[in-house]
Amino acid sequence: MTKQMDFDVLVIGAGPGGYHAAIRAAQLGLKVACAERDSVGGVCLNVGCIPTKALLHAGEQMAAARHAAEFGLSFGEQTLDIAKLNGWKDGIVKKLTGGVSSLFKANKVTHLKGHASFVDEHTVKVGDQTYTAANIIIATGSEPARLPGIEVDQERIVDSTGALVVPDPIPARMLCVGGGVISFEFAHVYNNLGSKVRIIEFLPTIIPGADADAAREFGKAMKKQGIEFETETKANSAVKKDDGIHVEIENVKTGEKRVEVFDRVLVAVGRRPRTDGLNAQAAGVHVTDRGFIPADAQQRTNVGHIYAIGDVASNPMLAHKAMKEGLVAAEVIAGKPAAQDAVAIPGVVYTSPELAWVGLTEAEAKEKGYEVKTGVFPLSASGRAMTLQQTDGFVKMVVEKDTDLLLGVHIVGPHASDMLGEASLALEMAATATDIALTIHAHPTLGETVLEAAEAVHKQAIHIMNR
Ligand SMILES: Cc1cc2nc3c(=O)[nH]c(=O)nc-3n(C[C@H](O)[C@H](O)[C@H](O)COP(=O)(O)OP(=O)(O)OC[C@H]3O[C@@H](n4cnc5c(N)ncnc54)[C@H](O)[C@@H]3O)c2cc1C
Repeated sequence: MTKQMDFDVLVIGAGPGGYHAAIRAAQLGLKVACAERDSVGGVCLNVGCIPTKALLHAGEQMAAARHAAEFGLSFGEQTLDIAKLNGWKDGIVKKLTGGVSSLFKANKVTHLKGHASFVDEHTVKVGDQTYTAANIIIATGSEPARLPGIEVDQERIVDSTGALVVPDPIPARMLCVGGGVISFEFAHVYNNLGSKVRIIEFLPTIIPGADADAAREFGKAMKKQGIEFETETKANSAVKKDDGIHVEIENVKTGEKRVEVFDRVLVAVGRRPRTDGLNAQAAGVHVTDRGFIPADAQQRTNVGHIYAIGDVASNPMLAHKAMKEGLVAAEVIAGKPAAQDAVAIPGVVYTSPELAWVGLTEAEAKEKGYEVKTGVFPLSASGRAMTLQQTDGFVKMVVEKDTDLLLGVHIVGPHASDMLGEASLALEMAATATDIALTIHAHPTLGETVLEAAEAVHKQAIHIMNR
């Protein structure tokens, strides 16, 4: 007989992964605790998805108000109360994190406040107390990666957390180091709020992971709005002086170096798994050299009753992936036949236009040996896009040539993230381009552009010339 444990499940971390795991385990009748050393909701709710989307919305409203003059609506001179903007954003975060606390109470999840570390494979210390659990889920998330030579002070040189506090005045010249999703989202925010923004990316392309054509189309739209970016470029050092931050920028191809001056620098060069002070070795849990705690399809680590989910377990570091893995771990513990077997995990850049994709890029499909056909439908041919004043972008569909099986969907355009649900479901259901083309989509909607991209695969789109 096993000895009596304090909990059936103890979750470490109350981010999207951790709180999903805790709530689902409780729903399934288990006695659950969730340890969190900071605010519940993790990175996503506190300093990630939610506050960035709030700032993106505010910036877009300002840009939209400026564009309204096109159809005759003008508002006079724009003014921005920055304290109010920061307060509004913080209010949304507070409401949502409060919601998670209420859900814990409603589901009888014990919230243990404090830093958690392993004592042995069934014992975890939280603050000064120790607790035992039959199963433990590690959901400790990730933190911003650092860049040698550039010290983050969260005032003039910031990471994503510092960039969430909009300074007064808005920085005139801003540099974003890194050409990934987070960098572009902040560049878009600050560009709309009035900064002159430059992005530098070490690699030859922006938004790694995205389809090359879609990234190009997206980059074109960003440039049109005034966001400058350079690839194959790196920042070597940043020195704070009275007239600004002097950044040494190097072209990695030519080795040419120059110094440019900015008022604010954002370092957004990726994230690394967070296992500081977790003492995973006391439980015999394997941590890789890069700090990840690998898990199998049932989210089990190398120790059978210890699970790892979300950012700490693997890439891609996305909230919806963490959430799904949390549910899987909880269900596996409850004896359900669950596994992380998603066909595809969607990715989104929440700018305007958005860049959103799910499934394989054209290059990935070819690498996997598929013979592919593609269909592209431009938003400039969409009546709905015109009525929204947002005609930059396209829908690109990647399909297996002989079977017509859908492999990937890549969208640059407004509400691309919301349109992606259809594409994700289609991939999960093993739909063909014909299945999508035969589905009646309401008119006029942006969703029709997905239908037309499917028709374009067969060279039968109606609203464009098919070449
Ligand atoms: C600026 C930004 C914007 C983002 N936008 C999006 C987006 O739009 N969509 C999207 O899908 N993803 C987005 N992400 C990524 C998303 O935030 C993460 O993928 C997600 O939060 C991961 O969830 P998680 O549960 O694995 O970990 P986290 O959210 O990192 O939560 C881990 C929690 O564990 C706690 N913790 C860590 N160690 C301990 C310990 N030893 N003891 C107790 N508690 C501990 C931490 O305090 C934290 O609350 C964004 C990230 C950033 C930084």
